[in-house]
Amino acid sequence: MRVPDYISPIVGYRVWTWDTKGLKSLCGERWHPGQSLAARCRASAVVAPTVGRVEAVHDAHEPPQTNCTCGVYAAKNLEHLRHLGYEGRGIPGEVYLWGTVVEHELGWRAQFAYPKSLVLRPDAIPSGTKEMESRLKTLAAYDVDIVIGGDGQHIPLCRRGSGFDAAGLDYLIGKRTEYYDRRQRDRILKKGDRVAILGRGIAVVEQVDRKEVRAVLWSKNVVRISRKKIVWDEGNARWETDAQSHEHPRATI
Ligand SMILES: [Zn+2]
Repeated sequence: MRVPDYISPIVGYRVWTWDTKGLKSLCGERWHPGQSLAARCRASAVVAPTVGRVEAVHDAHEPPQTNCTCGVYAAKNLEHLRHLGYEGRGIPGEVYLWGTVVEHELGWRAQFAYPKSLVLRPDAIPSGTKEMESRLKTLAAYDVDIVIGGDGQHIPLCRRGSGFDAAGLDYLIGKRTEYYDRRQRDRILKKGDRVAILGRGIAVVEQVDRKEVRAVLWSKNVVRISRKKIVWDEGNARWETDAQSHEHPRATI
């Protein structure tokens, strides 16, 4: 990819969608890391229904044309982007435009384009560790400036030429911790759940009250464990405890 330096590229604004492979236009066109997006004209492939033949608007190799609708679209500023109804849709950012560029009142249609910068809202970033890492890698591959923004924050996440920024990663690690804390808090231990008791095996919860949990081991013996000693283990996806529990034959309870 090269942005020609003999003319200054125009900087426009647009939105992208972001999936597990990277960035796409809202219409579904994939933007590849390290490759400029070259506009193609689809108007030339439109079959006119009345005559059933291909209507050649212009040479498909030379978009955009002033009398056509082809080209990579971008707004002139963020306000225009909002006016065009793109606020809250996808990932906003700046885009380099070059080659043949057709100017309109609110924006441009360009022959070539490449992202310049992206603004990620925190809620656009997956919370799970693995998903977060793999998704962010797809964005880092574009080697553009990325900030975590919205709600008055502006935290650098990636810098062009130098990869991930410590400030952004710290923020995301904090967010991830918060996520797991919340999940842990929201998880409710209930009757029928299994609890792995260190050195004893698996017990099935029979009764939970505010302070204590009563569970039945495979041996049918009953254990009483302090509620706060039972924690959800994300890695093993199960309740676990290393608490000393008092075990009683069922008959004595
Ligand atoms: Zn065209």
